[in-house]
Amino acid sequence: MRAFILITLIFLCNDLIAQNLKSGGVLKPEQAIMDIRHYTVALNVDPNEKSINGYTEIDLNLLKPTNNLLFDFWHGLTITQLWVNGKTQTYAHTNDDYIKIPLSQELPAGKVKVRVAYGGKPAIAVRPPWTGGFQWEKDAKGNPWISITCQGEGAKIYFPCKDHPSDEPNEGADMIITVPKGLVVAAPGVLQNVTTKKDKSIYHWKTNYTISNYCILFNIGNYKVVKRIYTTVDGNKVPMEYYVLEENLDKAEHLLDLFEQSCHIQEKYFGEYPWVKEAIRASETPHLGMEHQTNIAYGNKYRYEKLGGKDFDWLLHHEFGHEWWANKVTNRDWAHMWIQEGICTFGDAMATRELAGEEAYLKKMQQTECSRRQEAHRIDFLL
Ligand SMILES: [Zn+2]
Repeated sequence: MRAFILITLIFLCNDLIAQNLKSGGVLKPEQAIMDIRHYTVALNVDPNEKSINGYTEIDLNLLKPTNNLLFDFWHGLTITQLWVNGKTQTYAHTNDDYIKIPLSQELPAGKVKVRVAYGGKPAIAVRPPWTGGFQWEKDAKGNPWISITCQGEGAKIYFPCKDHPSDEPNEGADMIITVPKGLVVAAPGVLQNVTTKKDKSIYHWKTNYTISNYCILFNIGNYKVVKRIYTTVDGNKVPMEYYVLEENLDKAEHLLDLFEQSCHIQEKYFGEYPWVKEAIRASETPHLGMEHQTNIAYGNKYRYEKLGGKDFDWLLHHEFGHEWWANKVTNRDWAHMWIQEGICTFGDAMATRELAGEEAYLKKMQQTECSRRQEAHRIDFLL
């Protein structure tokens, strides 16, 4: 019975998501011979102009010699210069969102470094997190509150990349994000340093783990950081942090209590938290939520339900579950999205089982199956 429900749910998820995807699919020959090693995304963010300006550096390993390089990049942003291994190169930035780089001399197999300088106004999110882009919001005090979502569209909406789920950068990513002084940037991995120059603050974040392109992004806000140390099921100590808007600071400790509760449940069923060398983190966002690795987006506005008499946040638990199913175990292409959505949703039911018991769990699975059947024509409930 349980297996039947899970399989049904997995197939429904699979049908639903494929309609909305713009990354992945059959790899172009120029990209099939690239193994991406690392991304550096360095951008100045201007909340007044709603613009970005800076560069992205792509380190890759070329598996065969080539005369052409090909990257994905949204045509609405403007490239000002491009270098391959330190030399300026000509390129074509096409309306169908590619950067085509014809090389006058064949590039041998091996390490290649491509740097792209660019800027402009990134696309605004139409219906985040389902239809992604940038959100330029304000908090209750009028401070800028900025968020990005791009699971369906791909990271090419704001940085040049090989936009395919099968190729995560093996050595992770650096993000160097400049904001007006007073604002705080949250991004994947570990904060290396914050430097201040005149009226700007520069946040350098770094993750050494492999990471999906759609998780290489940042949130900006008038954040306060509330933290504690979490001890994993295997005894490792990991910083657990919540980047909370100042106006919700009084809610942060209880959210961390629920974060710990969810982490214990996920670890019980799926093993140790995957990113123990970095952090367990959530950031408050103006959209509902997304599984951004080591920095999950939380926008459920502290609307808790009771499970077995205890507070429980389904959104926090679900997005956090994706640290195992989506971030640690990643589909090679979107046709296999059932791996991350199906098993993560099963993990949601495990929380019901732990907190409210076996009967409540069976009921939850039946309800999940029914609601997903009813909503099978829609794609917008998947997160
Ligand atoms: Zn999900």
